[in-house]
Amino acid sequence: MRRLRDIPLRSKLTLIIMMTSTATALLVILGLVANDITNMRRTMAEDLGTLADIVGANSAAAIVFGDTRSVQETLGFLHSQPHVLSAAIAGPEGGPLGRYTQEDGVLPHRATPALPSPGPSWGRHIEVKQDIVLDGEKIGTVHLRSDLSQLHQRLRWYAGIVGLVLVLSLLLAYALSAALQRVVTRPILRLADTARAVSSDKNYSLRAPPGGGDEIGVLIGSFNGMLSEIQVRDTELEHHQKHLQEMVSLRTAELEAANSKLQLAKEQAEMAAERMTHQAYHDALTELPNRALLNDRLIVALAHAPREHCKLALLFLDLDRFKVINDSLGHAVGDRLLVQVARRLEHCVRREDTVARLGGDEFMVLLSSIQEPNDAGRVAQKIIDTLSEPLNCDGQELHVTTSIGISIYPDDGTDGGMLMKNADMCLYRAKDRGRNNYQFWTADMDAASHQRLTMENELRKALERGEISVHYQPKVAVASGIVTGAEALARWHHPQLGEVPPARFIPLAEETGLICAIGEWVLRTACAQARRWSDAGHPLRIAVNLSANQFLQGDLSGMVARALSESGLEPARLELEITESVVMQNRETSMAALREFKNMGTHIAIDDFGTGFSSLSYISRFPVDTVKIDRSFVSKLTVVEEDASIAKAIIAMAHSLRLEVVAEGVEEEDQLRFLKDHGCDTVQGYLYGRPVAAPEFDAFLAARQASRGAPVASSGDT
Ligand code: C2E
Ligand code: MG
Ligand code: MG
Repeated sequence: MRRLRDIPLRSKLTLIIMMTSTATALLVILGLVANDITNMRRTMAEDLGTLADIVGANSAAAIVFGDTRSVQETLGFLHSQPHVLSAAIAGPEGGPLGRYTQEDGVLPHRATPALPSPGPSWGRHIEVKQDIVLDGEKIGTVHLRSDLSQLHQRLRWYAGIVGLVLVLSLLLAYALSAALQRVVTRPILRLADTARAVSSDKNYSLRAPPGGGDEIGVLIGSFNGMLSEIQVRDTELEHHQKHLQEMVSLRTAELEAANSKLQLAKEQAEMAAERMTHQAYHDALTELPNRALLNDRLIVALAHAPREHCKLALLFLDLDRFKVINDSLGHAVGDRLLVQVARRLEHCVRREDTVARLGGDEFMVLLSSIQEPNDAGRVAQKIIDTLSEPLNCDGQELHVTTSIGISIYPDDGTDGGMLMKNADMCLYRAKDRGRNNYQFWTADMDAASHQRLTMENELRKALERGEISVHYQPKVAVASGIVTGAEALARWHHPQLGEVPPARFIPLAEETGLICAIGEWVLRTACAQARRWSDAGHPLRIAVNLSANQFLQGDLSGMVARALSESGLEPARLELEITESVVMQNRETSMAALREFKNMGTHIAIDDFGTGFSSLSYISRFPVDTVKIDRSFVSKLTVVEEDASIAKAIIAMAHSLRLEVVAEGVEEEDQLRFLKDHGCDTVQGYLYGRPVAAPEFDAFLAARQASRGAPVASSGDT
């Protein structure tokens, strides 16, 4: 049955039709044959009965008369009936009267065995037993047995016919089924083909050819309907899928974009972190290690030095007068200079050494392994020599020098803090010793440092203790020899330290901010003094120095105005001296302050002109009245030709810009003559008088008046 299920539908149908038709034909034939056999058998029985009647009738008389011979003769007639196997005639009581068998013919009645009683023996023979009746009375019995050869013959014939019919019916069934089953199978096969194509190609637009109105047609219709439904769904699905794919690709693109953004952000964050770490340990301008990194390296070097039995050196250096460059040429130039200095410093040391920038123009060099202090000295000298080579900043040739303080481990200190402090102290010593040199730490430096600290504390109290005073130095008109003014200069007389020179306490006052209070006090004192001189018939113009800190302080012009109004001095009798660097340091603030001074009516002088890097034409943009040629040029006027040229140029240019020229530090007649020859307006210097206290200045004035303008050498700076 399973095999049957697997064979093709067409064969299956053919087989079924053939089997069905054959079975049907067989049944029909068998029915017909059975009917025919039954009829034939009944006919044979009837014929045998008729034969028995004939035999009975023919033998009736013989029986009545007991003529067995006639009975036997009658039986002998059966010989003509080949199908009669045997026959027997019996009397009324059943006694045998004659007997016939096909093989033996008629037998004598005594030798005739009784025939078995007839019964159904359909397989081999047929029997009839009939009473012989004469005049209504039974006179005997006739018993006939016939064979079925006729029947068998018919059966054989039937078998042949049946076989033939079956073969024919099979052939016919096959031919018919082969032709007819197509009606059923063709649409189904096409349907199957379509289903196969749909399933293999996933092409839901295919349709099975439409069938008729039968179940297959309905099936095909339903199948096609189902395909249409699937196609719609498939299209929808495809649409959804497409939409989904678009969404996915959109999301993927978004994700990729987000990912790349994230990646970028990550990289930026990493770079920022790296930069931050770098910034935390490096100086932003020069990219050199900063103080933090230097400290780290110093700690490591200090840990290694004892193990490796070597020394290490800390070189603390700053650039001499860097402030002047910065103030006069601007911070941008200053910055570029620092970068170049940094690169040169790096070339002076080994790779394992560290050059750090601590801030401003301060650098520190850590020589992590040296054998003796002189090694550090050699490096320091190399640095000094290298930096003394001219530097080029924006096409300007700049000259810088450096001062270096050196401390050695373990000789000058065993911890980083101590070594740094000592190197710092040495740097001060190097500055004190004229700059552009290096100094090793010595024990006495501690004392100097202590002294500096003491001085700072003392200076804080100096003003309130009345230790600060003002000295006045005359300014004399070159042409007339008349004393036209005086410069007010601060003096500090300390009970123990004695006279502390301005060169020591003014920078200290500037560093500590005390200069503001001192400067204000000097201004007020000088204004008051000038007023007194004015009242006494000496209308001098009093010059007061202003430092950079005072400009940064804020209400500087208010302070000047108060000093003028307190003293009642005419503003035109006050001259404010400002160095080039102060003007250049904060150009906008200075310009605003200078304008306010100018509006008040005070004079403005540029002090120490020539030491900075500003040009006179630039300075003249500010509301300036006077230029004071720095003492360094004046002192060598008659010796160094270059200085003479500079002085001449300054005088000429200043005049062309309608500025008054004052020469500072005039000590000699030759200098005076030179200045006079070149048209300098005013001179100030020891040749006329040193800075002296007000009473001495009174005396000086009196003496000048008496001698009618002849130069008077001061008796000494009190
Ligand atoms: P400065 O303003 O240039 O003052 C002139 C300096 O030159 C004074 O030095 C003066 O004594 C000195 N001098 C004048 N003529 C001669 C000379 O012929 N030969 C020599 N060798 N020197 C001469 P001083 O009094 O020592 O003052 C030094 C500097 O201290 C001043 O230079 C000024 O910048 C500053 N200073 C003094 N007093 C004050 C003050 O009250 N406030 C401010 N901000 N600075 C002051
Ligand atoms: Mg001055
Ligand atoms: Mg000066």
